[in-house]
Amino acid sequence: MSLQKRIYREIQDKTIFTNAQQYAFEYMDTVFDRNIYPTKKALQSLSNFEEQLPADSTEAKAVLTFLNTYGAPATLPTTGGRYFGFVSGGALPIGIAAKSLATFWDQAPAMHVLSPIGSQLEAVVENWLQELFCLPTSTVAGFVSGTSTANLCGLSAARFRILEKLDWNVNKKGLFNAPKIRIVTGRHAHATILKAIGILGFGIENIEWVDVDDQGRIIADSIPILDDKTILILQAGNVNSGAFDDFENICAKAREANAWVHIDGAFGLWAGAVAKLKHLTKGMEQASSWAVDGHKTLNTPYDCGIVLCTDKEALKSSLHMSGSYIVESKERDGMFYTPEMSRRARIIELWAVMKYLGREGIDEMIYTMHLRAQQFSSEIQRIKGFKVLNEVVFNQVIVQCESDKTTTEVLSKIQELRECWVGGSTWFEKKIIRVSVCSWATTEDDITRSTISFKKALAQVKLSFKNNKN
Ligand SMILES: *Cc1c(COP(=O)(O)O)cnc(C)c1O
Repeated sequence: MSLQKRIYREIQDKTIFTNAQQYAFEYMDTVFDRNIYPTKKALQSLSNFEEQLPADSTEAKAVLTFLNTYGAPATLPTTGGRYFGFVSGGALPIGIAAKSLATFWDQAPAMHVLSPIGSQLEAVVENWLQELFCLPTSTVAGFVSGTSTANLCGLSAARFRILEKLDWNVNKKGLFNAPKIRIVTGRHAHATILKAIGILGFGIENIEWVDVDDQGRIIADSIPILDDKTILILQAGNVNSGAFDDFENICAKAREANAWVHIDGAFGLWAGAVAKLKHLTKGMEQASSWAVDGHKTLNTPYDCGIVLCTDKEALKSSLHMSGSYIVESKERDGMFYTPEMSRRARIIELWAVMKYLGREGIDEMIYTMHLRAQQFSSEIQRIKGFKVLNEVVFNQVIVQCESDKTTTEVLSKIQELRECWVGGSTWFEKKIIRVSVCSWATTEDDITRSTISFKKALAQVKLSFKNNKN
């Protein structure tokens, strides 16, 4: 049978699709209570994938079974309730379902003619976001893979606009001999900001660093004098402490100086959509560009970031492309707002999640994450030997033991116990355990089970220290 005939047959009989669904359902049913990290055996079994590219084709059903058998056990249950590593959002069922349906559609909303539905949803969600975050009506959105790319796009729009005002078209003339752009940011800027600064040719060594306070917030009085050649990069949600820069004060200052303000709000920008947390982002609407993720706090499936920019012309010009075969329409052509031409229609699950939750649901889900983070903080502080170093203003908790050595050992013990998963970091040169509550799924019981695991880990580490001494 020819390959094409076989493929048609797979579509007709649907077995691989029902199998995939069955595997997916089994996964979903066990994810809340399974091992929080793959077992040694599961990790070893990954070696099954190490083979030469097969010479002959394989039965589709066998490919899927193989993937499920060795792949599923080596996943991390970030969609469960006790994964607090990095800042990994969960995934709402409606997002997964909409994404699954859209997988069959396989749309690429580069241009309206290529995907009217993708184009329409991008236009609608752009408005929703602008209203939800109370941003200026001129704000446009580009739907990208994550905040890394969103930061890059926001800063490239800034680069375009600042140089254009100086009569320098960066697309044509490049950066060699261009007027110098100043980059001002806090010492706790996220690594992806530095990456973007590198890619855009600003040079990390040229950054004018601003000191931060004990929560990681930029000290407003330490900001150098700004001007219209400056990009000031602020943060909504410090990746360790969850702290927010003082936008109200700082953005007003920047505006007076005509500086461009970009806000990295990967997970924290969503505080602006929560009635009781809104004070954290007060004044952020005065910036010129923002980067935010759907896949963290909002709990869309992965691969969902957004760049927002008040200067449509600058964003589009900085990401511009043209070609004889491109069909520009009166409707939205998504590729003009993103670095990619072809990209999957991630807007579909973002739209679905926002429609499903509505304003009230977004508020409730995110505020609940905050309450759970506070619960974690108060429970852990009641256990002798643990300290919380940050003000738990949002969803992040920084935990420390009495010495770096203890913190490090307790962290690996917690990971070994596999009741919950947390990662480590450093905070003002001290080792810390970093807890990020970022999933709709985390219950009060999940938090308590996790703090009990912290307690157990500490007791075991102490015991091993004692035994080593004797
Ligand atoms: C996660 C994160 C990023 C990077 O976002 P991705 O979606 O992983 O690309 C940037 N800044 C902050 C503050 C983050 O937490």
